[in-house]
Amino acid sequence: MDKENSQRIMAMLHARSGHLENGEPISPPIVTTAKYALAGTPNTPYTYGRDINPTVEAAEAAISALEEAPVVAFPSGMAAITAALMVTVKAGDRVLVPSDGYYVTRVMLEEILGDHDIQFDAIPTQDFATADLSPYALIWAETPSNPGLDLCSIRSLAEKAQATGATLVVDNTTLTPLLQRPLDLGADLVVSSDTKAMAGHSDCLFGHVATRDEALLAKTAKWRKVSGSIPDPFPAFLVHRGLMTLELRLERMCANALALMALFEAHPEIERVKFPGMGFVIGLTFANEAKAETFINDCPAIFASTSFGGVHTSAERRARGGDVVPDGFVRLSVGCEPTATLLQSIEASLAAL
Ligand code: PLP
Repeated sequence: MDKENSQRIMAMLHARSGHLENGEPISPPIVTTAKYALAGTPNTPYTYGRDINPTVEAAEAAISALEEAPVVAFPSGMAAITAALMVTVKAGDRVLVPSDGYYVTRVMLEEILGDHDIQFDAIPTQDFATADLSPYALIWAETPSNPGLDLCSIRSLAEKAQATGATLVVDNTTLTPLLQRPLDLGADLVVSSDTKAMAGHSDCLFGHVATRDEALLAKTAKWRKVSGSIPDPFPAFLVHRGLMTLELRLERMCANALALMALFEAHPEIERVKFPGMGFVIGLTFANEAKAETFINDCPAIFASTSFGGVHTSAERRARGGDVVPDGFVRLSVGCEPTATLLQSIEASLAAL
């Protein structure tokens, strides 16, 4: 981890512990309440459970230290994405999204926001560099894209967006603020599914929006309040707890991914390997569906499931859900298992194909 990340991690670890009075617990209490005592003229921010919750605030403070930006938490990545769309586009606007990015964002645009006179175009992430961005009020980037794992330059998109007056949103789920910093690169707003590596244990859903733009922040907070999309305190507690080990988990996951890459790149059963050069998600193309399914289902070190970023290595054949990828394409999310044992297990499964 570089020096700046070390400082962010220190700030995140001590975001709560640094402000406690004697006798207060180091872990955030799970405060389950709809109401707060509120007699007379309100003189506290703690008014109603849909507006504010102390456990959610603890998770937000930790994420905010990592993002170095104010954060609004949501009950899922999609709730954060919906909020980001609602505060950045209006009727008549056109949006550019990646055709190889997380598909539910496109479903939201096509099947819901289309009815509200918001149009969109979907193009491959690789083509963002050469696309004419002038028609768009909002540019939505996902780099690396999920599941295609293609890249585009956030800095260059930010410069172009500034020139055309567009808003740039980056879905930073696959890398987290420790591996990629879209706000520092010029993005207006970041969304993240913290269901993945941020929480890290595959035991809750969560999401957040981060922005340094005061107007966008205020609108996002207002959206959450009026749409009723504040997260519950228990998942907020789990996210806070998971974040305390984010750096350690990422170090192991990234090291395991690099070790596996050496195996995959030379392996005759794998026709194509896609790896963005950092992170823990690898795209593997096998000859056909049967080989891919056998690899996923027969390897004891792989948990067959959707999603990614958890402590367990997991994999999914993405064509089964309708992504436009080859039938034999597997998205492998590398976990925190001991490196040598993970390698041995995966090598043995490849040999048995
Ligand atoms: N963004 C990306 C890149 C994702 O992969 C996902 C989920 O897979 C989401 C957003 C949505 O997150 P959630 O499942 O927490 O709603």
